[in-house]
Amino acid sequence: MKTNLLDFDPRQLAAWFAGQGEKPFRARQVLRWIHKAGEADFDAMSDLAASLRGKLKETACVLAPGVMREELSEDGTRKWLLDAGAGNAVETVFIPEAERGTLCVSSQAGCALDCAFCSTGKQGFNRNLSVAEIIGQLWWANRELGREADGLWPVSNVVLMGMGEPLLNFDNTVSALHLMLDDNAYGLSRRRVTVSTSGIVPAMDRLREECPVALAVSLHAPDDALRDALVPVNRKYPLRDLMAACRRYLERAPREFITFEYVMLEGVNDSARQARELARLVRDVPCKFNLIPFNPFPQSPYRRSGSDAVQRFRDVLRGADIVATTRRTRGGDIAAACGQLAGQVRDKTGRAHRLQEIRA
Ligand code: SAH
Ligand code: SF4
Repeated sequence: MKTNLLDFDPRQLAAWFAGQGEKPFRARQVLRWIHKAGEADFDAMSDLAASLRGKLKETACVLAPGVMREELSEDGTRKWLLDAGAGNAVETVFIPEAERGTLCVSSQAGCALDCAFCSTGKQGFNRNLSVAEIIGQLWWANRELGREADGLWPVSNVVLMGMGEPLLNFDNTVSALHLMLDDNAYGLSRRRVTVSTSGIVPAMDRLREECPVALAVSLHAPDDALRDALVPVNRKYPLRDLMAACRRYLERAPREFITFEYVMLEGVNDSARQARELARLVRDVPCKFNLIPFNPFPQSPYRRSGSDAVQRFRDVLRGADIVATTRRTRGGDIAAACGQLAGQVRDKTGRAHRLQEIRA
């Protein structure tokens, strides 16, 4: 079987080339061709010796996950359903804005953490994505969208907020992050790459050591009892531990604040009293709040908070000197909004009927 070079971060690619008896600068050249130029065809890598091109063609490939479907929202948001093999699919979403283009990347097929309000969680865990499948989303999106007029790739920011819990697929996520940051690959600054986590405390500490990018933490509740119900992993890593981990993370973070995500669920976590509790909870953690209107999906028991409730909640936080914004929902018409990603084509019992439905 050929070696997929998309599976290697810069260090691993250098090691692979060394193993082939090639000089390190060859690895750097190939890295640039693949990720900076978006090239998959070794024949097009014109500054490589013909003998090396021939060798690469025999032993290696550049293979991103296949695209099963593409959808375009009326607001310009784009969603791709990617084939993750064995009846699994994952989704990637591109959100164009005036000043930036953000790609929302998946890290796992499904998710084991089963948050009460999340469509990905409802489908259970299928498997971790490989490095090629994670970085392949960025590689593919840039190529598909095409360079901007100024020659730059359209994706300027990446958020690991698609399907899955990135910190439970730690090694592959960090390899993909290294590619995003490397000047010979995507060259994104640490501030433009955000990992979103439900609060896997030991992995937050590891990320701080190995690759401190911007961090978003999905909070959703001001107290342990409610968070245990909404985000079950809270039973393992309760709020006190999570807040301490956030403070530790900030010592190395590229931004001087943690972004707390908070899905607004009517009558569940959106009262003024809860906002006051929340302000107390985070008083020692420099942070910003992103209030996310709940995005419904079939069979979800929750309702989106009304705009009055959201505004009142936001005002309480602001009154406590906390920056709080409400996230504008994008791509709702193509089920590409936060928490709606459910690229599954096979249910947990292993039947592939949904695959047929999608392909039909
Ligand atoms: N597993 C990680 C990252 C993926 S989820 C995490 O939980 O942080 C990305 C964000 O979408 C999280 O903040 C999550 O809480 C939010 N989300 C999940 N379901 C949602 C829904 N139905 N409506 C709005 N946001 C949702
Ligand atoms: Fe997993 Fe995040 Fe969804 Fe929770 S919100 S189930 S952690 S993807």
